[in-house]
Parts: sequence; structure tokens; C-alpha cells
Amino acid sequence: MFDLKAFSEGVSQLGSVLSTVKSVIGMFPVRQKEQASKELLQIEEKLQIAEAQIAKGLGYELCKCTWPPQIMLHAGDVDYGERFRCPACGRVVSPDDMPPRDNRQTI
Ligand SMILES: [Zn+2]
Repeated sequence: MFDLKAFSEGVSQLGSVLSTVKSVIGMFPVRQKEQASKELLQIEEKLQIAEAQIAKGLGYELCKCTWPPQIMLHAGDVDYGERFRCPACGRVVSPDDMPPRDNRQTI
């Protein structure tokens, strides 16, 4: 069985490994530094995409103001659900703005 939580933890651990690698790359000679930074950026983007996919799988809302997409975080409760805010553009969505989910009762 696919363990989403373990996968999610693995991705965030990879993220911290990546920041360690970044500080090491800072000590590289210029030419290698450029190449390594470029590759690192691509890995970072893939990680962010994986993270966004996990977030979506866990029921988070995604904001498409950037690529890879931003994961919207809890921004307070309303009578009929939760509001979410995008950390990048500050957009807030309430349950009214979201498409109905399979597990949500629609009238
Ligand atoms: Zn946004």
C-alpha cells in the first residue's frame, strides 16, 4: 500500500538535505557552481511539484499563482468549513469558492 504520510516525510527530509547541499555548493569553483546550482534548481522544482501533489492528496487546496503551485494553508474557520490562504500571493478561498468534493454533501 502506498504510504502517503511516509512519502510526504521523505520529501520534506529531501528538502532539508537540499539546503545542506546548497551551502556546500557555495564553496565550489565558479563553473561547477553554476552547473550544480542549475541542477539543484531542477531538483527543487520537482520536489515542490511532488509536495504539491502530496498536499492535494491530503486534501489541501493549491493556488496556481506560481509554478510549481503553492500549497494553501489554513487561515481560519467559517460556519460551513475552513478558509485557506496562499503564502505567496495572499489569496484566500472559503468553501464557497471551492469545487465540491466527493466526500462533501452536495444539495
Ligand atoms: Zn497564490
